[in-house]
Amino acid sequence: MTEVIRSADELREKVAGWKRSGMLVGVVPTMGALHEGHLSLARAAREQSDRVIVTVFVNPMQFNNASDLEKYPRDEAHDLALLDSEGVDVLFAPGVDEVYPDGFATTVTVSGITEPLEGTFRPGHFDGVATVCSKLFGMTQAGRAFFGEKDWQQLQVVQRFVRDLNIPVRIIGCPTIREEDGLAMSSRNVRLSAAERAVAPVLHAVMQAAASDMREGKAVQAALMDAQAALLEAGFRDIEYLELRTVDGLRPASDLSQPVRMLVALWLADVRLIDNIAV
Ligand code: AMP
Repeated sequence: MTEVIRSADELREKVAGWKRSGMLVGVVPTMGALHEGHLSLARAAREQSDRVIVTVFVNPMQFNNASDLEKYPRDEAHDLALLDSEGVDVLFAPGVDEVYPDGFATTVTVSGITEPLEGTFRPGHFDGVATVCSKLFGMTQAGRAFFGEKDWQQLQVVQRFVRDLNIPVRIIGCPTIREEDGLAMSSRNVRLSAAERAVAPVLHAVMQAAASDMREGKAVQAALMDAQAALLEAGFRDIEYLELRTVDGLRPASDLSQPVRMLVALWLADVRLIDNIAV
């Protein structure tokens, strides 16, 4: 049975016991409303660690939009049933006061890599992510932490501050899990109407087509412009970015001479979608 723990002290005692027996602890930080993408991380953690903690915390500090926070889907009973069926040892689900007690005054800020892409459109978002992940690494004392490539920039940010602050955890990136029609799984997808859900997979198809055009020699800028037009035509709106960036430093790339990814953020009705693929 997956045990639910809400207090950091209680978690610390549990983990101390595991560590005394020489066990390697893996953690999967999430905001809940779990889907196959999250479960794939839990499975990777299961395979690569002796004990697995999945954390569920809808972190107010990483939301830059009050209504997005309010509308964020939550279903702990369902999450717990899924984690139980995956053999996860602990669901750590602290309340906001447990994570940010009165007087909390510390922020982890990563510079450089946080500035483009999500950083431009979600000011403060990565401060929230880096701060809460530092805290979760401290609270769980995990030796390995599993993150999805779905949030490519986030994965880079976490790797950066863990290195910079000498936090003793190994960050492991895991591939994006998609619906059969190509839509990247996301907790926010449940907010799409049936008609919007039917349009959503066009995003991945358009990205794949643009990537394949680039590999066949089409100029990067032309391929991106054509992809933007196709997305607007399909019914997406407000393309915040659709860019080619280097895999590691997320520097702008204008050709395929080094390993690059295509990253996108846009809106479909009232839902903001992000995705990225290797090119
Ligand atoms: P979230 O609950 O959305 O904050 O995501 C928690 C973790 O799950 C992050 O490391 C995400 O990158 C990862 N994740 C979310 N969606 C997917 C997906 N479709 N495939 C793989 N990992 C995912």
